[in-house]
Amino acid sequence: MMCILFGPPGSGKGTQAELITRELDVPHVSTGELLRAEAAAGTPLGREVAPLLAAGELVPDAVVERLVQVRLEAPDAAAGAILDGYPRTAPQARNLSSFLSGTGRRVDVVLVLDVDEQGLIERLSRRAAEQHRADDNPTSIAERMAEYRQLSEPVLDFYRLEGVQILEVDGSGDVGAVHTRIVQALKSAEHP
Ligand code: AMP
Repeated sequence: MMCILFGPPGSGKGTQAELITRELDVPHVSTGELLRAEAAAGTPLGREVAPLLAAGELVPDAVVERLVQVRLEAPDAAAGAILDGYPRTAPQARNLSSFLSGTGRRVDVVLVLDVDEQGLIERLSRRAAEQHRADDNPTSIAERMAEYRQLSEPVLDFYRLEGVQILEVDGSGDVGAVHTRIVQALKSAEHP
């Protein structure tokens, strides 16, 4: 199952991806985590992307595409993955589809987590206090929200045109309740 977990910053993608990954037995691939790991390790790539991450600005498509392709070529991703934070732009979505079709795979489902703006701000403020992420500050949060509003629809339009199943799930409430809704939505999805 190649599943894209889609939703605005603070919608709980990372937390929910971790829970689904155990059930589906496919890895959780988060481009944000891959990029933060590069930045923390101080690699040349990490040094290049660190200022973009801190400002909440998007890293160039070619950089994330390369990271994802390397990750999806690993044996543990042969049967699928839960993609979190990728694709974020229509060109990234097109690139992913052509990469996957070259390896005999495809995106099976896009799961969209819906959370209202007030709920997102509350979650991001909580995460800022707990995790101290460089981009959980008011300016970077505003930048990431604006980016999501501007770029998310073209990504979803791309998948609608491709005929990929798009499942909308209410992402409000506690972690367990959202997880239950996701599991139900995935069960009701047509199986690849
Ligand atoms: P996230 O953990 O998904 O919120 O991502 C954190 C940051 O990593 C984003 O604000 C971007 O700077 C960068 N990033 C993550 N995924 C992507 C992507 N698909 N395209 C471009 N930049 C990304």
